[in-house]
Amino acid sequence: SLSMKNILVVTEHLKGEFQEITFEMLGKGRELAADLGGQCIALVFGNMKSKADLLGAADRVVSIGGNDDYNPETCTAAVKAVVRAKTPAVVLVGNTSMGMDIAAPLGTALAIPVVAYCNDLKAQGDSLIITSQQYGGKINVETVTPPPVVISILPGSFNPEKGQIPGSPEVEDFPVEIGAGKVRFKKLIEPEAAEVDITQSEILVAIGRGIGNRDNIEIARELARALGADIACSRPLVDAGWLPKAHQVGKSGMKVKPRVYLALGISGAPEHVEGMKNAATIIAVNTDKNAPIFDVAHYGMVDDLFAVCEELINELK
Ligand code: FAD
Repeated sequence: SLSMKNILVVTEHLKGEFQEITFEMLGKGRELAADLGGQCIALVFGNMKSKADLLGAADRVVSIGGNDDYNPETCTAAVKAVVRAKTPAVVLVGNTSMGMDIAAPLGTALAIPVVAYCNDLKAQGDSLIITSQQYGGKINVETVTPPPVVISILPGSFNPEKGQIPGSPEVEDFPVEIGAGKVRFKKLIEPEAAEVDITQSEILVAIGRGIGNRDNIEIARELARALGADIACSRPLVDAGWLPKAHQVGKSGMKVKPRVYLALGISGAPEHVEGMKNAATIIAVNTDKNAPIFDVAHYGMVDDLFAVCEELINELK
């Protein structure tokens, strides 16, 4: 309805830090609120209201309190209570493990539509035009709907800097009493410390299934040493146990932005490309000239990766 103008952003935090998705959503939420003539409201849970000054992109902060440890059951119930009370036009959640917990039950409980995998969003007249990714990014779909709507935002879709505005938004306590549910937070299991953080690498030698077997990885390592690069890989190598998870690039791996990304024997599936398309220079070597990796590569060679590696190593030596 036209009385709905506000944007509610469900913030995320971990170990006392707001996550980047929070700022992506706040930046977009603020823009949208301005277009609709409403306010951008940040919803925080746990003890984060003490850090409300980081949420200056929001006009107001609603603090539902509770525990800092995320619990999908209580958090969803609390968000639902806030949405009932505040009747926002749009609820933005992350398309993250947390946001995906919240979006669907929220939509079904309040009988409002949910649009997931959103990577773009705008208001036009009385409607919202929402672009979302389907089939792992192969196609974009536009959904046009009047408010209210719950939208889950794919991380990386919007500029977080636009939401990182210090300020002193008004903080409203909105404690929600929720009986003990069935879900308990037990502990946070952190990924094993990795020997390398490939999100910080300047140069990555990335290998895919084209490498053939575990022993062949040595030639890529030799090339990486000669280039001062780190080793990255596609998912099948991690699934096979050939390399630790910390090396995986893609949808379910790391998002990397090196100066140079050398893709050896990687086909370029959308789930892989999602993690490396922002590299400054992408060089692909693949024996298949139709491999989709060549669509994102700045330079490509239709050749055998072993021949290219050997020649490069000799050249560099
Ligand atoms: P393949 O697709 O098998 O490609 C191997 C390539 O090597 C081929 O193009 C072939 O032409 C080439 N080749 C073979 N021999 C040589 C040679 N001697 N020299 C040069 N080239 C050669 N994948 C990821 O990478 N990261 C993710 O995070 C990720 N997450 C996923 C999440 C979901 C939900 C799903 C469904 C899938 C995900 N995947 C991910 C898997 C993804 O869909 C692909 O299956 C995977 O990326 C393919 O890996 P690849 O390119 O190494 O292997």
